[in-house]
Amino acid sequence: MALITQAIKGTQDVLPSQSHKNQFVESTLLEIASEFGFKEIRTPVFEHTELFTRSVGDTTDVVQKEMYTFDDKGGRSITLRPEGTAGAARAFLEHGLQNEPLPQKVSYVTSCYRYEKPQAGRLREFHQFGIECYGSASPAADAEVISLGNELFGFLGIDRIRLEINSIGCPECRKEYQKALKAYFESRKDELCPTCIERLDRNPMRILDCKSPVCHEIGEEAPVILDYLCDECKEHFEKVKAYLEAMNITYEVNPHIVRGLDYYTRTVFEFVTDALGAQSAVCAGGRYDGLIEEIGGPHVPALGFAAGIERILLLLEAQGIALPEAKKPDLYIASIGDNASLKAAELALELRQSGMSAQFDIVGRSVKAQMKYADKIGAKFTTVIGDDDIAAGKVKVKNMENGEAQELMLEGFADAFMDVSLQSAASELQDIASGDSNIDLSKFLGGLI
Ligand code: ATP
Ligand code: MG
Repeated sequence: MALITQAIKGTQDVLPSQSHKNQFVESTLLEIASEFGFKEIRTPVFEHTELFTRSVGDTTDVVQKEMYTFDDKGGRSITLRPEGTAGAARAFLEHGLQNEPLPQKVSYVTSCYRYEKPQAGRLREFHQFGIECYGSASPAADAEVISLGNELFGFLGIDRIRLEINSIGCPECRKEYQKALKAYFESRKDELCPTCIERLDRNPMRILDCKSPVCHEIGEEAPVILDYLCDECKEHFEKVKAYLEAMNITYEVNPHIVRGLDYYTRTVFEFVTDALGAQSAVCAGGRYDGLIEEIGGPHVPALGFAAGIERILLLLEAQGIALPEAKKPDLYIASIGDNASLKAAELALELRQSGMSAQFDIVGRSVKAQMKYADKIGAKFTTVIGDDDIAAGKVKVKNMENGEAQELMLEGFADAFMDVSLQSAASELQDIASGDSNIDLSKFLGGLI
């Protein structure tokens, strides 16, 4: 029985009292990305398994250990997406977006699935906000993508976050590096974990991304890719840095970043924090010039990043950053008697059709209980309608914040109430602007996006 009343380990419900936070973060991220020209793309939650083994890489942790893969009833191997880049690239290719004006810029908020050991900030179903930019090999594109990441954290007011960048070169310059890396790890083979011993022959760079503390420590002393970059890759990296400096974006070069997915080339980067324990990466990405070709398309240089929504929410909480509150009902219409209840239903609909949020009693409770409910749900205004009010053609509307009451005609009620409601919002805004309120104006406005 317990099975059907318990969510699967590593998954999370977002309850109605909390969902406005996710909505705010997700819509803010998509909105800022749209200012940079990124348009939302939506792709299926599952894809052919082959897509991920080909693009993410079959020696990566994600493919080797973390994918939710199963056969469907038709016997096809299906995988729940572990990340968003592969599906977006597949859609790009399938719909011939390379024939549209380039660069093509897409954004998404999607659920992702990875079989990992659940802990704070590490789930089996989590959500990523991601962007992808197709069709530019220029370092200006790298800088643009990184600067978008920087803007997002800046807008949300998150500090204690560092940008680390690296270049992992192209397949050409990586050949020499792989040799040096392999020789180094061979010399310390006895100390490596069993998975890394397997990686030694197939993909020694993956060892640098191993989560085992011992392998990690061995990796710290390994040769670094930056010493092996070819002239073109070196120049590309220098130009990326010059753009970041021109945009006043603070970064550190971390030669140990290799990223956990095989498709990356040249620039890779992470926004990391020390505020979430072991889950230090909040946003990560890079350039993947070979991916579209790898899945059967033409050569289309591309790059992107993904940020974990749950980790962003944890960071906001850890740093005490207040998000806009959930939207409260503009008006609660209490009623006395059957006739008044009909009127309440009519008025509520009228208000909703005018774009306001209104509620009335749909339980059949006493007026006292209705008002208690109105208070609990935080209604900004309330009114009580009885037969007398209907006969007189007017009702009293009470501002629950300051107790002031105002009489409004039932005829044209929605318009009249809208005026009252806007006046109250304007004076609230004035309080915020003059510093009489502790709500941050940008956040308040953010909530209106
Ligand atoms: P980590 O090193 O923490 O495992 P990763 O390198 O596997 O991260 P990416 O594949 O780059 O992560 O995914 C991009 C972002 O998605 C991460 O920076 C993180 O914010 C988020 N993320 C990744 N895996 C999880 C997870 N299991 N639960 C929650 N968020 C995650
Ligand atoms: Mg991981």
